[in-house]
Amino acid sequence: MTVRKPKIVVLGAGYGGLVTVTRLQKALSVDEANIVLINKNDYHYETTWLHEASAGTMHHDRVRYDVDAVINRSKVEFIRAEVQDIKPEEKKVILNTGEVEYDYLVVGLGGESETFGIEGLKEYAFTISNVNTSRQLRDHIEFQFATYANEEEKNDERLTFVVGGAGFTGIEFLGELTNRIPELCKEYDVDYSKVRIYCVEAAPMVLPGFDPELVKYAVAQLEKKGVEFKIGTPIKGATADGIIVAKGEDETEEIKAGTVVWAAGVRGSSVIEKSGIENMRARVKVDPDLRAPGHEDIFVLGDCSLVINEEINRPYPPTAQIAMQQGETVARNLVKLVKGQSDLETFVPNIKGTVCSLGDDDAIGVVFDKKLTGTKASFMKKMIDNRALFMIGGPSLVLKKGKFNIL
Ligand code: FAD
Ligand code: NAD
Repeated sequence: MTVRKPKIVVLGAGYGGLVTVTRLQKALSVDEANIVLINKNDYHYETTWLHEASAGTMHHDRVRYDVDAVINRSKVEFIRAEVQDIKPEEKKVILNTGEVEYDYLVVGLGGESETFGIEGLKEYAFTISNVNTSRQLRDHIEFQFATYANEEEKNDERLTFVVGGAGFTGIEFLGELTNRIPELCKEYDVDYSKVRIYCVEAAPMVLPGFDPELVKYAVAQLEKKGVEFKIGTPIKGATADGIIVAKGEDETEEIKAGTVVWAAGVRGSSVIEKSGIENMRARVKVDPDLRAPGHEDIFVLGDCSLVINEEINRPYPPTAQIAMQQGETVARNLVKLVKGQSDLETFVPNIKGTVCSLGDDDAIGVVFDKKLTGTKASFMKKMIDNRALFMIGGPSLVLKKGKFNIL
């Protein structure tokens, strides 16, 4: 009797998806399972480096590598396509190019920018979401300088930058932007004193919830480089001319700016919402073994998933660190299912720390409960970035794409 090989379909070649696939291709033979990876592009990008590409401190090609560099094509079928929907009852995925059936599905489609329905953001604000949004933002910043340099009647608001949200993305982008702007001023003969950089945050502090001493350091460093913080100031809207913020209880105020960057949060994938799988803001509150509740054949990981930190009864913030750890658990659980075992592993996050860069040369962080600032933290950040490459592509990928500009 021949047993039909199960077909494992992995959606998304991000941190979670690629860790899953690289582990599966090692653990399973071609006789045991068909492995299919589906991704929009034929490359993976380091989402965690996009603030650098967005500010123009790193070329966008450095943040991406071909999926083929890490998957074994003799074991994994790669389909370059956009996932449009998942039909759990029919066990199939709808692509822009057709349909794919599955026995087991892994959803790792990452997150999307969360605008909370705030008017004008979709039309007028830039986001740091993928390689192309980063290229668009970098080019726009440069265009503002080039235009300012050439216009007869100088429009100073062209050189005003607003970053919405002082979470990790906003702060990391500001670190890069404040390093890039002096270079642009020099390149385009622009007077640096004409540039204004605002960071607008709704909460009463920068990096809400992070270590206050480290936050103080970060704020001081960024202020030294020209950032003006407006905390406790929710953004209410965006227009072609800038943003509208709340002022007091009922009033609003306009901040005119040539560039508005919305970095105020992420939600899961809209594909999840469409699929009918139970979700909260497009994220699935997964079972302990990382399967979607009520769907024994669907695993969800990374920014599409929601894992509760029982100690504080709140979700873990979505990070690459967690996505990669989930990828390892999902792969082990799939191997068990393929081999007919039902004792699936429970996912337990192992949070080693958090490091937030403030440009290429500075950072803050807590690693293994130790606080770090400055060059030590910046070194650690580069080690973390290199480790992510190592986990997916081993030493050869680190050699090809790694960060060796150690201070
Ligand atoms: P991703 O790695 O984002 O990958 C999703 C993949 O799915 C992409 O390849 C995408 O192209 C593909 N895809 C999406 N939709 C479709 C579709 N419909 N069809 C086909 N393919 C699709 N986390 C940390 O731990 N440390 C950090 O230092 C850190 N820094 C960050 C800096 C920035 C600027 C940002 C924005 C985030 C940062 N994060 C960091 C968070 C981290 O990047 C995310 O949590 C992580 O990328 C999530 O991984 P993932 O596997 O879920 O998705
Ligand atoms: P976030 O949710 O962590 O931060 C968003 C910030 O925007 C919050 O401070 C919030 O108060 C603020 N905000 C929300 N609505 C607002 C409004 N209307 N006006 C003004 N401010 C508003 O989102 P993020 O920074 O994009 O990060 C997303 C995820 O990626 C997080 O889980 C984060 O931990 C992770 N990340 C990690 C790193 C790192 O480890 N170095 C770097 C970047 C992102």
